[in-house]
Amino acid sequence: VLRADKVSKQFGDQPVLSDINLELRAGEWLAILGESGSGKSTLLRIFARFLDADQGKIIFNGEELKSVSGELIPGHESIRLIHQEFELFPNQTVEENISYSLRFYDSEYRRERVEELLEVAGLDYVRTHKAKLLSGGEKQRTAIAKALAEQPDVLLLDEPFAHLDNHNRRVLGDAIENMQKQQKTSCIFVTHESSDALAWSDRIAVLKNGKIIQVGTPSEVYNQPVNSYVAELTGGIN
Ligand code: ATP
Ligand code: MG
Repeated sequence: VLRADKVSKQFGDQPVLSDINLELRAGEWLAILGESGSGKSTLLRIFARFLDADQGKIIFNGEELKSVSGELIPGHESIRLIHQEFELFPNQTVEENISYSLRFYDSEYRRERVEELLEVAGLDYVRTHKAKLLSGGEKQRTAIAKALAEQPDVLLLDEPFAHLDNHNRRVLGDAIENMQKQQKTSCIFVTHESSDALAWSDRIAVLKNGKIIQVGTPSEVYNQPVNSYVAELTGGIN
């Protein structure tokens, strides 16, 4: 669905990404796992076309996504990025926040979809709460439900599990999984926690100093790490 082809990026004279080749497959949940500063957010922003690569291309459904500064970007509306600091309308309720993403639809369809999304995201009990009063996990789920209301083909999540306790990790993970299955959304999420990558993804790409050093299923990465760095990162066997 979405592919990085020989992507490199430098900030000043600091190389941040080098020669990244990575493909997100249809319906897949792909984790990018790496330490702080390894270039995860930068790569996600390039995938979302919020940032231009210095070299390389982003291919979406077989077509190159043109530069940020260029004109219309084909398929851009089908790719949705949720930042590390997600933004909601703080004084609107959970319902209203989700409903806003559906503003171009008629009111009946809109009501149905809001109900559906509240249900799968486990947000029914806070539907009338103002966004600013929600807990971190509830905010994350609302932001993801809001993004999914737009039915993107690809959802890009930057550290969706950050600052969540184990219970809320599970609730959020289940919520994304449900929404993903229901809408066949493909998803990349970025994390520095190997336990989240191992628990929730179909495949893991390990990023170190801007290079992908291993891509594989959670069991491959855990049981057959390519080197001691990956073994240590995942706590797996070397
Ligand atoms: P974290 O886990 O802490 O979020 P990350 O893996 O997401 O880290 P990035 O945000 O991609 O890391 O940053 C990679 C490197 O690029 C860092 O050294 C960072 O300081 C640098 N960097 C990121 N954005 C910029 C920018 N706009 N200008 C200059 N340097 C930047
Ligand atoms: Mg980051």
